[in-house]
Amino acid sequence: YQAKRDRTGVEVYESKRDSNTPDRLGLLGDLRRALDAGDVELHYQPKVRFDGQVAGLEALVRWVHPERGKVPPDEFIAIAESSGLMPHLTEYVLETALGQVAKWQAQGLKVPVAVNVSPRDVHTPGFAGAVAARLARHGVPAGALQLEITEHVLLEDPQRAADTLAGLTGHGVKMSLDDFGTGYSSLVHLRRLPVSELKIDRSFVARLAVDNEDAEIVRCTVDLAHSLGLLVVAEGVEDDETWERLRDLGCDAVQGWLVAAAMPAEETTAWLRARGSRGWQRPADLAAARA
Ligand code: C2E
Ligand code: MG
Ligand code: MG
Ligand code: MG
Repeated sequence: YQAKRDRTGVEVYESKRDSNTPDRLGLLGDLRRALDAGDVELHYQPKVRFDGQVAGLEALVRWVHPERGKVPPDEFIAIAESSGLMPHLTEYVLETALGQVAKWQAQGLKVPVAVNVSPRDVHTPGFAGAVAARLARHGVPAGALQLEITEHVLLEDPQRAADTLAGLTGHGVKMSLDDFGTGYSSLVHLRRLPVSELKIDRSFVARLAVDNEDAEIVRCTVDLAHSLGLLVVAEGVEDDETWERLRDLGCDAVQGWLVAAAMPAEETTAWLRARGSRGWQRPADLAAARA
């Protein structure tokens, strides 16, 4: 690590990119302890169709470090990935999410939940069976669980990844392809991965309303996904103009701050109840209806 001193003379650590700095090792130990103590939380972000229907919720992990405050998921997930802690983190997230789905079902709120899984998980022997056993233990039907994967699962041993994913879909678990369009995107992947949903990465959605090239990429992705029978979700939708563009391009559902940011479980329950059977309505539409 690089030890720096701020103006008050207190040492401030800056993590470097290599994986074994004391800083990262420290965070790793803290994360392990936080998981054991149940100090890691899940927040839930709705996926909403253009008619307002809530298509599902995505579970997003949140960790507040006792001294450092909020640690961004991208940061600690990278640490978990490179250290072997990932399977433990994923077990924790699945366990928490399925417990919450069971609670919501008992309260009459039947909403599917998506959990992000990393390539590490998909390559862990026995992963598909472990997920099925966990579903059974919680009494949650497989259709209420979705797993979000990225194309990175195919980078290493694509055959084993394909077998695991086939095992999961065989149990009735739905698969979603996250962050589509970034990194190693290839049309071949779409054929090899048994997914029923494709999520267009926020980087294409963000400038959709102002950038013609991004709009064309989104248009082609939507058409391609539909021709393969996939549902298309756009992530990172922050404003009405983007929402309208996506609707006109034939996208199926959106996720983003326009609808709601990820919320703690209690708040999500209240959000779902307040929307009721009408689902989510755009503030712009509600205002127009009142006028
Ligand atoms: P992701 O799965 O693509 O999740 C979407 C990210 O975009 C989330 O960031 C979410 O909070 C953020 N987001 C949602 N709507 C908007 C919006 O309108 N505008 C903007 N600017 N951002 C928005 P978050 O929670 O920081 O998570 C980052 C990534 O960390 C996730 O990307 C996912 O890859 C990973 N992650 C989160 N939770 C888990 C988990 O439980 N397990 C694994 N393996 N990965 C996770
Ligand atoms: Mg995701
Ligand atoms: Mg995503
Ligand atoms: Mg993303």
